[in-house]
Amino acid sequence: MEKELRNLPLIPLRGITIFPYMVMHFDVGREKSILALEDAMLKNQEIFLVSQKDPKVEEPDEKDIYEVGTVCTIKQILKLPGDTVRVLIEGINRAKIINFTEKESFFKVDVEILEELECITDKKCEALVRTVRNSFDEYIRLSGNMQTEFLVSLDDLESPGRLADVISSYLMLKGDKKQELLESFDVSERLEKLLILINNEVDVLKLERKIGAKVKNKIDKVQKEYYLREQLKAIQEELGEDDEDKKEISRYKNKINKAKLPKSVKEKALYELDRLKNSGSYSAEGGVIRTYLDWILDLPWNNETEDNLDIKRAREILEKEHYGLEDVKDRIIEYLAVRKISNTLKGPIVCLVGPPGVGKTSIARSIAHALNRNFVRMSLGGVRDEAEIRGHRKTYVGAIPGRIIYGMKQAKSKNPLFLLDEIDKMSNDFRGDPADALLEVLDAEQNSTFRDHYLELDFDLSKVLFITTANSLDPIPRPLLDRMEVIEVSGYTYEEKFHISKEHLIPKQLKEHNIEEGKITFAESAIYNVIENYTRESGVRNLERKLATVIRKSIAEMVEKNKQSINITINHIKKYLGPAIFSYDKADKIDKIGVVMGMAWTGYGGDTLPVEVTVMPGNGKLELTGQLGDVMKESARAGYSYVRANAEKYGISPEFHKDKDIHIHVPEGAVPKDGPSAGVTMITGMISALSSKKVKHNVAMTGEITLTGRVLPIGGLKEKCLAAFRAGINTVIIPKDNEKDMLKIPKSIKNKLNFILADKIDDVLSNALISEE
Ligand code: ADP
Repeated sequence: MEKELRNLPLIPLRGITIFPYMVMHFDVGREKSILALEDAMLKNQEIFLVSQKDPKVEEPDEKDIYEVGTVCTIKQILKLPGDTVRVLIEGINRAKIINFTEKESFFKVDVEILEELECITDKKCEALVRTVRNSFDEYIRLSGNMQTEFLVSLDDLESPGRLADVISSYLMLKGDKKQELLESFDVSERLEKLLILINNEVDVLKLERKIGAKVKNKIDKVQKEYYLREQLKAIQEELGEDDEDKKEISRYKNKINKAKLPKSVKEKALYELDRLKNSGSYSAEGGVIRTYLDWILDLPWNNETEDNLDIKRAREILEKEHYGLEDVKDRIIEYLAVRKISNTLKGPIVCLVGPPGVGKTSIARSIAHALNRNFVRMSLGGVRDEAEIRGHRKTYVGAIPGRIIYGMKQAKSKNPLFLLDEIDKMSNDFRGDPADALLEVLDAEQNSTFRDHYLELDFDLSKVLFITTANSLDPIPRPLLDRMEVIEVSGYTYEEKFHISKEHLIPKQLKEHNIEEGKITFAESAIYNVIENYTRESGVRNLERKLATVIRKSIAEMVEKNKQSINITINHIKKYLGPAIFSYDKADKIDKIGVVMGMAWTGYGGDTLPVEVTVMPGNGKLELTGQLGDVMKESARAGYSYVRANAEKYGISPEFHKDKDIHIHVPEGAVPKDGPSAGVTMITGMISALSSKKVKHNVAMTGEITLTGRVLPIGGLKEKCLAAFRAGINTVIIPKDNEKDMLKIPKSIKNKLNFILADKIDDVLSNALISEE
């Protein structure tokens, strides 16, 4: 069939693509185009509109123009000022240029009308139509700028090809994409392409929305806050509270002016107050600033109490409030005297070291009392973050100052006695070493300008009298220890505990329970009974608790039985506290082979350490069981080697290891023990077991041993001797080098014990083993 050709004038379009059925207007300015228009108007008003490949080309020729365009009818022409003409056209048919018949004055072409390949009965086509409609609906929903009439008219469209064209003309697409759609004569192909393009547009729109929403959210929040704040202001004004803010500001201002702050602190405070004014006190920022100002105002920047350096009075107070502790009291009086003469507090920091409950905290309190200083106590147990000492930076949410500044706030004066408890229980982790921060706190050279991260201001700690306490010196970092003057506070003997109970603990408890003098009295034997059978400690903390229980129960008895007074005896104690809790490892009453009493020293005071050794057939194994730490295991091995090397000397077969195993057992005690001082005990046990010689039951020993059999000195002699005495021992074998430490042992104990000084293991053995006659 001969294809229909038409000869029509042509206008190249820049940036627009016309689809069939599309009605639109555009402006024509180029002379060539206007001539083409005129030509069309002279004929049947039909014109061929086709896009330029590049809209920027001013004078396009053949090759700059696409081949496929649309035959349109001109509906209206409007002359605009200047040489421009506005035309209203309606698209009729797709057509393809076959041939240019005129190029000079304007373009005229032969075009072939293109018939569409419709797909109305096709299922695939139907599915495509539906999806295109759905996607386009979504596109419209997202873009939100389509008129509803247009959508309704879309529903009436029966022909899929026409639907595709109408939608194509409304989509915001690039020129080349539109051209592609125009050139798709196969309708299902056109629908497919269109679907891809719509979906792509939908994705872009979604993304745009998301970005838009985010930005909007941010703006909204700021605006909302501003709006609410303004509203709040208005409400407050209405209620006559508008000045609440101003009042608060002036309250702070007054406080700042009155507070006698150092200049730099005052400046900072006023600066923060200014910020508070601007941020409004109801904002989050306002809250932070207020807390900060409160901290500044609560700190004792310039409050100082007056020291009482009357040494005589100090001595009296210390004596009155604490029994014994002569060493400690003397050292403290010395310390105060030196401070009085040199009129400065610079110098080493006192560190009170000793088991729990021996009165370290309470003597520190007495010192504060004697000096007339305020007292604050801060436990460092478990502190492992530098920030706990020095505070968190203000930028942290909920930041607060560190413990030092916190303590200063509690102290209410800049020269308190500041007790840093349990300095040995500090540890460190990745967040920085608290010990470093503490070094700065305690260093007299640096602490006048101590800087807390939160305050960001220098605080003067140089007037503070720091005292530290620890249970043991070992865990304290060396540099910290170097700055301290260690004063040992050791455990108490029964006598001392008795006096402390009678003169301090019982009166204190009676007072706390509001009991008049003489109503409750204690028989001496009752006090001893509590000490010996219901407590087992170096200090008196438990003892105090037990005595409080006894007092409470006796009050109950008095009330119940209508008694006026009560004298507490051993019988009462049994009734109130139940059967005796502790029976000490009382020494065996008979001499045994392989059973030796050692003496140990732990953070909780002295203790006895029974060691058992047995020998059995085997092949030279050394078995260790029970409560042995690593150091103790090492000394057991060293002892074993010594015994093997010197077997003959002690009447033991040098070949014993070929057919014998040795088993050393250290029975479990309440507190884990470790250390080298059980060396002599274990050798004595082994030799006793191997040679079948009995060990004297009333002997206890302590000492480290070398491979050559020398006995080396040990620590905690006093505590160990107290424990041995408690266990009913009457002879203690101690290293010769510890002779000097015997001075520390209370006379009451020293007189009752027989001391043997050992230089070599043989000195131990000859006194501990019973030689067979
Ligand atoms: P620490 O700080 O060494 O653990 P504390 O200071 O808490 O011990 O003492 C525990 C209790 O024992 C306190 O009530 C204290 O008053 C009392 N105390 C300890 N030693 C004595 C003493 N020598 N004289 C009077 N009371 C004492």
